[in-house]
Formats: sequence, C-alpha cells, structure tokens
Amino acid sequence: MTGLRTQPWIGLLLMLACAAAWAADIGGKAAFDPALDAQLARLQRIAYDKPALALQILQKLRLDPAHAANSQQLLLAEGRMQAAAGNDAAVEAIATNLSQYPQSQAQVSLLRALHADQGGRSLQAAEYAEQALAGLAPQCGLEPLGQPMAEDCDFRSAWAALRVLTRKRQNEGVFSLAEASARQGLALAEAGKDHYLQALSMGGLAVLSLLSGQTDDMHRWLAQGQKISEGDVLAMAYMKAFEAALASRTGRPAEQLRALEEGLALATQADAPHLMAQMQVGLADIYVRLQQPKKAIAAAEIALPQLHALADQRLERAARHNLALALIQARQFERARRELTLLAEMRQDWSDHAVLIEELREEGEAWAAAGQAKEALANFHAERSLNAELVALNREASLRQLKIKYDSERKQADLDLLIRDKSLVDKQLANRHLAQQVGLAVAALLALSIGLAVVMVKRVREANRRLKANQALLRAQSERDPLTDLANRRHFLGVMEQQAPAQFNGALLMIDIDHFKHVNDQHGHGVGDVVICEVARRLSHAVRAEDLVVRWGGEEFLVFAPDVSLGDLAHLAERILRGVGGQTIPTDTGPLRVTVSIGFAHFPLPPSKLELQWEQAVNWADMALYTAKSRGRNRAMGIATVDARDSDALTQIEADFDAACSSERVSLLQVLGPSA
Ligand code: GH3
Ligand code: MG
Ligand code: MG
Repeated sequence: MTGLRTQPWIGLLLMLACAAAWAADIGGKAAFDPALDAQLARLQRIAYDKPALALQILQKLRLDPAHAANSQQLLLAEGRMQAAAGNDAAVEAIATNLSQYPQSQAQVSLLRALHADQGGRSLQAAEYAEQALAGLAPQCGLEPLGQPMAEDCDFRSAWAALRVLTRKRQNEGVFSLAEASARQGLALAEAGKDHYLQALSMGGLAVLSLLSGQTDDMHRWLAQGQKISEGDVLAMAYMKAFEAALASRTGRPAEQLRALEEGLALATQADAPHLMAQMQVGLADIYVRLQQPKKAIAAAEIALPQLHALADQRLERAARHNLALALIQARQFERARRELTLLAEMRQDWSDHAVLIEELREEGEAWAAAGQAKEALANFHAERSLNAELVALNREASLRQLKIKYDSERKQADLDLLIRDKSLVDKQLANRHLAQQVGLAVAALLALSIGLAVVMVKRVREANRRLKANQALLRAQSERDPLTDLANRRHFLGVMEQQAPAQFNGALLMIDIDHFKHVNDQHGHGVGDVVICEVARRLSHAVRAEDLVVRWGGEEFLVFAPDVSLGDLAHLAERILRGVGGQTIPTDTGPLRVTVSIGFAHFPLPPSKLELQWEQAVNWADMALYTAKSRGRNRAMGIATVDARDSDALTQIEADFDAACSSERVSLLQVLGPSA
C-alpha cells in the first residue's frame, strides 16, 4: 500500500519543495535578482498543481524586458518546470541551451538530476545531484560541512539537489546517509529563511527518523514542521500528508485516515489538484489496509487520470499499485492482472529497490490473502532476489561513503556525524546481516533436516535389515519343531512350494511309532516325549545329509529323500527300522524298546511314471504305512510298481488301496525291522 507509507510518497512531498526551489536563481552573481527569486519561489507552488499555468506566467516573465539580464535564471526555472512535467524533449533543449552560459555546469546537472528523478531513475538522478552539489557547495558552505552560507548561495537549488540525494539514499534504505543530506537541506532552508522548505525538510526528517527507528525524533520533527507551516494552507496540507505517512508507517490507520481527510480538505481549499490526487492515492492506500476495496478503487480511480495528465509517473505508479491491491481484495483478478502488467512496464526504468520490494511484498501478500498461491509465490521470489541486490548495494554504498569520509581531514562535527552515520549504517547492516543469518539458519536447518533424514533412512534401513534377519530367524523357528528340533510340516510345505508344482520327484518315507499310546499310558507323557525325541534323533542319524526329516505330527515322521534310487530307498528304510528299533531307548522308567512302521514310495511311481502332486505322494506313502501297520508293524512297506495308465486309474487305486494290493495292481516291497 504505497502512496503514503513508503518512500515515493515522501519523494513527492519533497518534489513539491523542489519545485519551490525551481524559482531560485542559480544564474550567477551578476544576474541574481532577489525580487525575481521570490516571485519564482511563489510561482513554483502553482507549478506542482497547475504546471501549464505556471509555465504561461513564466513565459510572460521571460518576455518582460525588465528581466532580460536574468535569462539564465529564467531558463533554468523553465527547465525545472519542464522536468517536473516530464517533458523530455523540452528539458534536453533547455539543458543544451543552458550549457552555453558560463559556469552553468551545476545548473545543467541539477536540471538533469530533477529530470531523472521525475522519471524514477534515482541512481542517475543522484549522480547528477552530486555533480550539482559539487558546483554549489563552496558558496553554500556544504564542503566541508558547517561553513556559513555565502550571500550568493543558491540555497534552493542546493536544497533541491540534496532532496534528490536524500530520496535516493532513503529509497535504498541507507537512512543514516539520507538523514545527513536531509539535515543539510534543512540547514540551507533555515539559512535562506524559507519556512516552506523548512517545513518540508522537517516532514522529511520526521519520516527518516521513523524509518531509522527513532520515534521520539519523528514526533519532534513533525511538530516543528506543523508549527512552522501554520497560516500557510498549502504547507499545512503537506504536513497532513506527512502526518498520514507517519501514521501509516506506525500502524495507526484511524489517524492516517483522519490526516488524509483533513489534508484533502486543505488541498481543496488551497486549490491544489495535484496534491488532492496525492491525498486520494493515500486514501486508496488506507482503504486497502482497512479492507475496504470499493472505496480504495474509487479513490485510486479519481487520482489516476489527474496524475496521468500531470505526467506524475511516481504517484501514478503508487496509485496503480494501490488500485491493483484493491482489485485483488475485491477478487477482480483479471483487472488486477491488467493493472499489474501496466505497473510492471512503469517499473522497468525505476531503480528504487526498497520501494519495489515493499510493493512486491504487498502484492504478494494480497495475492496470498486472496488465495492465489501461484501469483503470491511469484511475487515472493521476485521480492527475495531484489532484497539480495539491495543488501549488496547498501554495503557498497556505506563502505564507499565511509572511505571518502576517512580519507579527508574532517572537523570534529564531521567526525561526530560520521560516527553516528557509522553506527546507524552498522545497525542497518546488522539488521540485514541478521536477516541473512536468519536465511542461513533456515538453510542450516534445512541441511540439518536433510542430514537427519539421511540418518533416519540409514536407521530405517538398518531396522529393516534387522527385521529381515529376525523374520528369517522367526521363519526358521516357525519351521522347526520345538520338541525334536526337526523341521516341521510348515517347513516341508515351503520346500514343496519351491519344487515344480506339477510333479513331485523323489522318495517319501512316512514313519509312525508303533503302539505309542502304550508308552504314554504306561510311562507317562514325559517319557513319551523323550521317546519321540530319541526316535527323531535316530531318524536323523539314519538318513543321508541331503534327506529331510520332518516331524509330521504327534509321533509321525516324514523323510523326504530327493535324490535316492529305488534300490537305495529300501536300504534307507531298513537303516531306519534298525536305527530306531535295534536298540532300546533309555528313559526314567527304564529302557524301552520302540519300533516304527514305514510306508515308502519313489516318485514318479514306476512303471508308468504318472505325474503326481506332492500331497498325493504323501498320501501314497501314508497308504503304504497303513499297510505296514496292518501287516504287523515294525516293518517298511514300499510301493514297487503301480498298474495305472492314467491319473484316473491312480485315483481309483487310491480310493481302495487294500483291494489294489490284493489284486496286485499295486505290488509292494517289504523290509522287516529288527526282531526283538
Ligand atoms: P499305532 O501303532 O497304530 O500307530 O498305535 P499308536 O498307539 O501309536 O496309535 P496312534 O499313532 O494313533 O497314537 C498316537 C498317540 O501319540 C496319540 C497321542 O496321545 C500321542 N501323542 C501325539 N503327540 C504326542 C507328543 O508330542 N507327546 C506324547 N507324549 N504323546 C503324543
Ligand atoms: Mg500315529
Ligand atoms: Mg503310532
């Protein structure tokens, strides 16, 4: 919400005073006419609001033979008026014309400074202003500081040049240096006894005090400015504008609004349309801040045509900025975008970073408040990169200034000022530094969080690895039988899943302890467990390394021999029979003789080698076991051949295994266990 709160507004106020100075004679000693000087000073007050009228009067003066000797003074006056009106060609022509006069360098520089300033080229303006000041300094006691002002000092021109410098420094955010030049301007206005310029200087100083955080000074300067402008309606109107700017800066919207309304009334009373437009820009600003977009739009729309007609780009820009904010608030996004496009064009030639940053920030905030994240983000990025430039600029400017000051011999007063400057510059730099540090801290935090993330990822990986290991262990444990430490049924299932699902290959031996119930019944369950464990151990001992022994259930075991020939299979069964039943098992209740029965088969089943799934294969081994049990136990029954051509025939046999054995469709092989 620029206009009243930010630097361009203040610049405008100062510009009025600058126009006042326009009337001053800087034409040199010979042509200096105090009466004409006073007349031109009055004329300038009209010029800001009614440039055409002022120019008309000026031209009359130029034609007056009484002022023939003051042509240089009048020419400069016209040049400044044209500069204020933004008439490029006229300003150039007058500058060329002026440069033909002897000792006119300072005047030409001032003219160019004002012209550049009017066009918003504040860096270029400041360079010209410095040149003008260098020419004016000796008479005006500016170099070194604190010298008395000579009779022939064109203090209004010097004031105007200082005003340009002040504004540029202020806009760059180098408030201490801005204050130094503003104070020089005030000293000149006091020496020249110009109340109007004094009031404007004081207003400017009030704003600068605020910007550098000295609110007491701000109130003091404002009160002094108001006092000195009493009785002068136009000056009072300007002081209201300052008051509004300060109220805005210090977050007192009610006072800002009141000051603006009073200022508008005073400007109307003074018949000052330019100033009225300026007040309207201020009103647009406050209405935006008060979230009254309709009123803000109305105020900006009153001001804009007037400002455009007056070619007041600076204020037009402020008005457009406020209008854009109001439109965003009113959710008229299309119109807002159009205004912002216009603004972007206007801003291209402007080098006042601080203002632009503030405007961008406000626009970004407005977009954000309206929920337009894309625009808000774009503004945020633009603002950030400008901020970085500004920090660099500030550092350079302060260092340059400090070096110049140290290099030359200065009086104590100068040194004091320097020390103040420096501490203020330091403060500002410290502030910027702080901002940078915050930025760095944020970056560091980011880095830290990335680091943390890396650590976390590592930990998660480590945890995952452990989890996997644990899972493997758990899996292994879940696939072990806790009593015998043999593989359990689940493990066997896993092994089978890894085999080709369509066809089971290898040999199976289903083993069951004979009359185990008796063991339990006669010796107790504990002894039963011991027996199961010992049988398991003996089984493991009897098989080969590549064979898998599974505790299939209670006192049933399954041996999977993946790679054994049919002939070797019978030997394996025999080894098991002998291994278990060959020796008694020592228990708490004495040695027990335990035998097992075995059903075994080799798959695919000979001779037809029909395809079988593992579940079926187990069933065949089980059926053989059943036969072993029914034929007296302590023996192994193996399936030698099966007379089945297809799987249906196999299924038939499975349905009545005993009958198939009797009819010899299944021929069996018997291995007897050790006799008692
Ligand atoms: P058969 O010769 O026909 O196999 O006779 P059996 O008595 O062994 O009969 P069966 O196989 O049907 O009986 C098994 C018994 O084993 C039944 C059950 O009480 C017992 N049993 C099963 N698991 C365990 C175990 O972990 N510990 C003990 N002590 N006994 C078990
Ligand atoms: Mg059993
Ligand atoms: Mg049994």
